[in-house]
Amino acid sequence: MKLLKGDNVVMLSGKDRGKKAKILVVIPETGRVVLEGLNMMKRHTKPRKQGQSGQIINKERAVSSASVAIICKSCGKATRVGYRFDGDKKTRICKKCKSDI
Ligand SMILES: [Zn+2]
Repeated sequence: MKLLKGDNVVMLSGKDRGKKAKILVVIPETGRVVLEGLNMMKRHTKPRKQGQSGQIINKERAVSSASVAIICKSCGKATRVGYRFDGDKKTRICKKCKSDI
């Protein structure tokens, strides 16, 4: 996975295409990420007790990491992630401006 929690990304597909968001959760097992406030899913809950009303809860749903692109902090563009190696240390870099991400 090239994406990390807290990265700023832009959606490349779906109804939220072009919207920017922060990564809340990364799920490496499925290659998916959860974005803050995007790809919302409505959950309707029924009242459990008398006098309590039903609710509609908005919840973020995970999207495939292939449908998001990271936004570079230096050049501000949506980019792909490259790597720079310092010895055995791997640093993520922007493919466009070569700055560290
Ligand atoms: Zn850049």
